[in-house]
Amino acid sequence: MSGDPVLLTPGPLTTAASTKEAMLHDWGSRDGRFIGMNRKVREGLLELAGVAGSHVCVPVQGSGTFAVEAMLGTLVPRDGRVLVLVNGAYGRRMASICRIIGRAFSVYETPEEQPPDPGEVGRLLRGDPSLTHVACVHCETTTGLLNPLAAVAEVVERHGRRLLVDAMSAFGALPVDGISFDAMAASSNKCLEGVPGMGFVLCRREVLAASGGNAHSLALDLHDQWTAMDANGQWRFTPPTHVIAALAHALDLLAEEGGVAARGGRYRRNWRLLVDGMRAMGFETLLPDAAQAPIIVTFRMPSGFPFERFHDSLRAKGYVIYPGKLTGADSFRIGCIGAIGEVEIRGVLEAVRETLMELEAGR
Ligand SMILES: *Cc1c(COP(=O)(O)O)cnc(C)c1O
Repeated sequence: MSGDPVLLTPGPLTTAASTKEAMLHDWGSRDGRFIGMNRKVREGLLELAGVAGSHVCVPVQGSGTFAVEAMLGTLVPRDGRVLVLVNGAYGRRMASICRIIGRAFSVYETPEEQPPDPGEVGRLLRGDPSLTHVACVHCETTTGLLNPLAAVAEVVERHGRRLLVDAMSAFGALPVDGISFDAMAASSNKCLEGVPGMGFVLCRREVLAASGGNAHSLALDLHDQWTAMDANGQWRFTPPTHVIAALAHALDLLAEEGGVAARGGRYRRNWRLLVDGMRAMGFETLLPDAAQAPIIVTFRMPSGFPFERFHDSLRAKGYVIYPGKLTGADSFRIGCIGAIGEVEIRGVLEAVRETLMELEAGR
């Protein structure tokens, strides 16, 4: 037992002890063991998405947002225009990135509990020939909503435009096989159950090869990062060696578990148990089950609910939950992802039950 709390958050999240132990070494950036590990991680990530033949994996130092910004800055040409699908904070963040790095964009926004309509995406693309790219979040972590990525990809392809995906909170747990995309960004520390510190973008090879000179930034230039790494296996700038070592091990654990389908299955069981247990105590979910990804659940805050005390009491019992991120309603969120299962979910439900009794007793 590590004594650490169980993190029921969308990242960082609870990792396996053996993943933490995988970091107990020092690697030089030119160390052959490190270079081999780095190559294996990059290949493994491509295989998880079923794009090993068509795409390359470009890792980038930093959190997930660094990878999203690198993806938009490198793959959208300076005279391109992005249709950003927004139904939460992460869609809005992609629009902010476009604004700040100077890429033209339009927004198709739907309410936070509503997925975009692929038919409407098609209509918008037909109506504006200047749109070159569509940017879509797979699981919108703001609410836990699952966006219809396959249907969006199909429409984008049919209209001859390019699709860029923020798959941060879904990658490794929700399958993307057969979905056509130019680029998909994710990070080491969500459903892959590694530690934070690295993002990566799976890029269609010929699109990346043609993207030289697009980037607004030296450090976030995926084309440069890729050509340098392909030349000698090394990172351009100090690599997050320990993060990669942890991720290499975490990918082994994912394979041992049975791959993407098995991991998604465990998260789905976590989600079912959590939602049923919370509903039995009177809590309501923001989303109907059918709209929900088994990643993180948003619960409506009952009126007058003392969230700070609720949160702190759960923390004292060893469970960390997350405040809401909705623009409209008051809410809080509980994650289903990480190296957790039935024991941890039953544990947090028991802690919630005890906390509610304490709050009621005015303790
Ligand atoms: C976590 C997350 C990100 C990236 O967040 P960072 O804090 O930069 O790691 C981006 N998009 C989605 C959908 C996410 O869940």
